[in-house]
Amino acid sequence: MPKALGFAAQAADKPLEYFEFERRDPTENDVEIEIAYCGVCHSDLHQARNEWGGTVFPCVPGHEIVGKVTRVGKKVTKYQVGDTVGVGCMVDSCRTCANCEDGYEQYCDNGFVGTYNGEDKHSGGVTFGGYSNRITVDQDFVLKVSDKLDLAGVAPLLCAGITTYSPLRHWGVRDGHKVGVVGLGGLGHMAVKLAKAMGAEVVLFTTSPSKVEDAKRLGADHVVISKDEEQMKAWRNRLDFILNTVAAPHDLDAYLTLLRLNGTMTLVGVPAESHPSPAVYNLIAKRRSLAGSLIGGIAETQEMLDFCAEHGITSDIEMIAMDDINEAYERMLKSDVKYRFVIDMATLKQK
Ligand code: NAP
Ligand code: ZN
Ligand code: ZN
Repeated sequence: MPKALGFAAQAADKPLEYFEFERRDPTENDVEIEIAYCGVCHSDLHQARNEWGGTVFPCVPGHEIVGKVTRVGKKVTKYQVGDTVGVGCMVDSCRTCANCEDGYEQYCDNGFVGTYNGEDKHSGGVTFGGYSNRITVDQDFVLKVSDKLDLAGVAPLLCAGITTYSPLRHWGVRDGHKVGVVGLGGLGHMAVKLAKAMGAEVVLFTTSPSKVEDAKRLGADHVVISKDEEQMKAWRNRLDFILNTVAAPHDLDAYLTLLRLNGTMTLVGVPAESHPSPAVYNLIAKRRSLAGSLIGGIAETQEMLDFCAEHGITSDIEMIAMDDINEAYERMLKSDVKYRFVIDMATLKQK
């Protein structure tokens, strides 16, 4: 079995460090990928530090993977050696439940197999993610990546892109809608770009006054400093839809009251501690909805990648070396990300 190099957390309170392990040789339906870049999602940090519980150590995070196909199994029809491909948050699912059959593998009733910290059907152990030089994945969970786009900027689309694209599509965001995006981090900056490309008027809510100019450059029509009550009040009852990407517990009422009649706020952030419960009256008063959304299915992820290729959309990234990952996590905790860290896997050397 081929040896893989990577970076792993050995315990919740330990920094990530160099780690060697084995990847399987491609089975007949597998694609082997040499990883060029891997994005750094806030979920990687939550899981490496066991903030959601259930992390198995050692943990190799990373689910925003792009690279080149190096080998394919006998029955692989979708990919050839040399193709540019991507892998997101899932590497398998049961494929037989109603949700899988409908293309909602992320909502698999039997639980999808996460790209890392998932139950590996092949080894019987745990899956290892993209902070690594190679990965072997079933062809049905591999995505085609256009060579038209900058590859490093594509990596974050595999999680941040699809996690924001899917709810924007599901709740029917289109021309003329006023859409709020809360938090300008990895997910938030993709939400701004995607909502804008779908024709919405975009209002970005941030706790960071230093991000105002960037938010406008990224496509926001209006930027609101969420700590400023007067600025918040000006948007009461006006938004059709809000996508809330914040990774920390906060007051949801401050945003629910900005929704117009029948408006929805969808949460995609998964803070370690729950949000305080919103006031029921704010939902009742304007028949508002509070919802959640999890990544996106494989077919929808391909649709999102094709949409991004068509509209020239990639992530704004800050490239880092593999050795810089622990510092990147600390900066992420301070909301100091512009707007996604991406690991250049050429910097991962055998130690
Ligand atoms: P990120 O890059 O760290 O961005 C989060 C942003 O939230 C920050 O940049 C900041 O924006 C804002 N924020 C942070 N702390 C805050 C606080 N205490 N109060 C208010 N705002 C705060 O994280 P990310 O990678 O985009 O991920 C965001 C969340 O989504 C994480 O919890 C992650 O696990 C989750 N996630 C969920 C899914 C899903 O399928 N549902 C998929 C991927 C990630 P400002 O500086 O602009 O305020
Ligand atoms: Zn993610
Ligand atoms: Zn299923």
